[in-house]
Amino acid sequence: MSQSLTPYASTQLLINNEWVDAADGKTQDVRNPATGEIIGKVAHAGIADLDRALDASLKGFNAWRRIPAHERAATMRRAANILRNRVEYIAGLMTQEQGKPLVESRSEVTMSADIIDWFADEGLRIYGRIVPSRNISAQAQVLKEPIGPVAAFTPWNFPVYQVVRKLAAALTTGCSIIVKAPEETPASPAELLRAFVDAGVPAGTVGLVYGNPAEISGYLIPHPVIRKVTFTGSTGVGKQLAALAGQHMKRATMELGGHAPVIIAEDADIDQAVKASASYKFRNAGQICIAPTRFLVHNSIRAEFVQKIAAYAEGIRVGNGLEEGTTLGALANPRRLEAMIKVVEDADASGARIVTGGQRVGNVGNFFTPTVLDNVPLTASVFNDEPFGPVAAVRGFDRIEEAISEANRLPFGLASYAFTRSISTLHKITQSIEAGMLWVNQPATAFPELPFGGVKDSGYGSEGGPEALEAYLNTKTVSVLALY
Ligand code: NAD
Repeated sequence: MSQSLTPYASTQLLINNEWVDAADGKTQDVRNPATGEIIGKVAHAGIADLDRALDASLKGFNAWRRIPAHERAATMRRAANILRNRVEYIAGLMTQEQGKPLVESRSEVTMSADIIDWFADEGLRIYGRIVPSRNISAQAQVLKEPIGPVAAFTPWNFPVYQVVRKLAAALTTGCSIIVKAPEETPASPAELLRAFVDAGVPAGTVGLVYGNPAEISGYLIPHPVIRKVTFTGSTGVGKQLAALAGQHMKRATMELGGHAPVIIAEDADIDQAVKASASYKFRNAGQICIAPTRFLVHNSIRAEFVQKIAAYAEGIRVGNGLEEGTTLGALANPRRLEAMIKVVEDADASGARIVTGGQRVGNVGNFFTPTVLDNVPLTASVFNDEPFGPVAAVRGFDRIEEAISEANRLPFGLASYAFTRSISTLHKITQSIEAGMLWVNQPATAFPELPFGGVKDSGYGSEGGPEALEAYLNTKTVSVLALY
C-alpha cells in the first residue's frame, strides 16, 4: 500500500537567502525512478546566476565568520531541529526523486540532523595554540581561520547526507558555501538548505545551484571568490575537478569511487558475515561508495556463505520505495539499470555463476533484482569497475595473503571489510590493507566523529572527525615581540 504522498515541489535556486528561478528561466525535468514519470522541474543556473551566488557567498562569508562560534553553533542546532521536525516531508520528496525506501530516506534525514549537531559542537573546539617562545619577550600563536567561500559538488545517491557533511563542516568553521546539488534529486537537498535559512543564517552564507555540472564546476572552481573545493562522485570526474582545483591553487577534498573488498576468513562467523555485509550491500540498492563489493571468501566456507547470502537476497522485497514493506527501491536513474544489466551479462560471459537475481524487474522504473554471483573471474568487469548497484560478487581464496593481495589489486582504496575471529589474521589485514576505512565483523558505521575518506584513486581528505574541520581551515602563525 502506498503511504500518504508528499506533494512533489519544483526546486529553485537559493541565492542571498532568496529562492529564485534562473535568470533566463531555464529548467530541467525531474523524474521518479520508480515510475519514469516527470514529477517536477529544477531551475538551471546560468553564468549570471552563478555570479550573483558568488557575490552573495562572499558577503555571507564576511557576515558569518564574524559571528561568535557559540552563536554559530546555536544556529546550526536550530537547523538540525527544523530538519527533525520535517523528516516525513523531506523523506517523501527524497523517495520520489531518488527511489530508496521511505525508511532509508527517513534515516538519512535524521542522521543528517545528528551530523549537524556533532559539527556544531566540534566547531567550539577549534582552538589554535600558543607555542613556547625562544625569546621571553615574544609570543608565538597559531591561529585557525576559516578558509573562505566553499564550492561543493554532491551526487544523487544520498541527496541530503552527501551535502550535510560538507555544509556542516564548512559552517562550523565559519565558511560560507555554494552547493551544486544533483539535478536528478534536487528537492530534498533544497530542504536541507531551507532549514539553515529558516534557522537564521545571514544572507549568502549558504547558496544552492543546479544546472550543467561541468559548466558550473568550470566556472566556480577557478573563480577568485572560491577558496575551497569539495566533491563526492566518480573517480573520473573527481580527477578532472582536482586538476582544475590544483591549477588554481584551491584546497580540495575528493570523496570518490570505491570497490570495497570483503575478506571472510575460514574462522569467520558466517551468519554474522552474511547479515552484516548483505545488509550494507543491498542498502540504497547498492548505490553506496562504501558498499561491500568484492566478496573474498575462504574456500572451506564459500559454498555455505554463497547459499546464505543468496537466501538473504531472495528475501529482499523489491518495489516502489513509497510502498510499505519495500526493502529495495528503484535504481536512481536508467544509467544504473543499464550498467547492472551489462555487469551481469559480462560476468556470465566470463564464466561466473549467477546464483540469484541478475534481471530487470518489470518494464517500468529502474528495478533490478538483488544479485549474487559466484566463482567470478578476476577479468570480469564487476571485479574491476565499481558496480554501484545491488550485485554481490564472490570469489574463493585459500591463503589470507592471497585475499589481501586481491583486496589491494585495484587502484581504489575507500572502504574495506574483514570477518574473522583470529587476532593474527586481523593483524595481517589491518597492517596491509590499502583503504581509508576498515570495518571488522560489522557493517559500515559512518559516524560523524570518525574520519571518512579514501586513499589512491578513491580520493583524499576526510569528511568526518576533527580532520573534516581541518580541511576548511587556514593556519596562520603570528609571532609577537613585546616592546617595553
Ligand atoms: P558521473 O560521474 O557523471 O556523476 C557523478 C556525480 O558527479 C553526479 O552527481 C554529477 O552531477 C557530478 N558531475 C559529473 N560531472 C561533473 C562535473 N564536470 N563537475 C561537477 N560535477 C559533476 O556519473 P553517474 O552516472 O552520475 O554515476 C556513476 C558513477 O559515479 C558510479 O558508478 C559511481 O562510481 C560514482 N558515484 C559515486 C558516488 C559516491 O558516493 N562516491 C555517488 C554517485 C556516483
